[in-house]
Amino acid sequence: MAMIKWDVLIPKKTGDKIPVAFVLLELIIEIFFELYVVFPTLFEPFSQSYNIHLSIGLFLFFNFIGNFYLSIATDLTSGPNILPSVLKPDWTYCPTCMINSPPRASHCFICNICVLKRDHHCLYTGKCVGHNNQRYFMMMLVYFALGALYANYLNIEFTYEMLNSLNWRVVVTFFAPVIGWIFGFTQSLSFLTCLQCSTCVICLMLSLGMIYYHLALILRGQTTREWRKGIRRYNRGWCQNLLDVFGTRWYLIWLWPWISSPLPGDGIHFVKRDKNLENVKDI
Ligand SMILES: [Zn+2]
Ligand SMILES: [Zn+2]
Repeated sequence: MAMIKWDVLIPKKTGDKIPVAFVLLELIIEIFFELYVVFPTLFEPFSQSYNIHLSIGLFLFFNFIGNFYLSIATDLTSGPNILPSVLKPDWTYCPTCMINSPPRASHCFICNICVLKRDHHCLYTGKCVGHNNQRYFMMMLVYFALGALYANYLNIEFTYEMLNSLNWRVVVTFFAPVIGWIFGFTQSLSFLTCLQCSTCVICLMLSLGMIYYHLALILRGQTTREWRKGIRRYNRGWCQNLLDVFGTRWYLIWLWPWISSPLPGDGIHFVKRDKNLENVKDI
């Protein structure tokens, strides 16, 4: 495992620091909430079911945080690859980086680099999503959704355990804690508990929406930018499109973020639907 690069974790743009801090803060609050409020209500400390649920929680947490880190720390540029000095068709010259930028790459003015197969600049990581880190970004979303789903499952069990019944007041308070608090439904279930439960519901819905949006684009072989411009020339069929993002060992990447899954492409040369792989001779 490579050394952790702490300096790259801090977003460059002030506007990105707020959403990144929100995600990490919410994650910490959620862990403490589950461990110190929900777990003691549901399980005997260090019993078999306590240990099983703790292991599931830790597995989800480390996979999320590992993919989060790698989607930030991965180099998104062409790295040691030498780019041609003559501008080829579909290539663009980037005056900031002073390089000829490959097809599908574009310059991010926040990251201040030319990102290979740039998808978008993510507010929640403070870094771009592109050819080299899209796998980590998608797995981060998947583990965020799974974590939120698991937390919701525990929270519903917890709510039921506390009230011994699921009536409409509990449902209202669970989804809209402020309304529950105003109407005085939260005598048994405290306002902060409800707030945390409903935050988990919102996180689940948000992450599912983002997975749906980005997976639909990946299956079509489009980046967000190409989707906006109606470019579909890099679609190689959903199966190859998935391999291009998740790598040749896609079936293992759910286990651990640091498991290697080499990408078939280099992020510089792309097969177009109408043409063969561009043969670029470096001059
Ligand atoms: Zn550039
Ligand atoms: Zn960026």
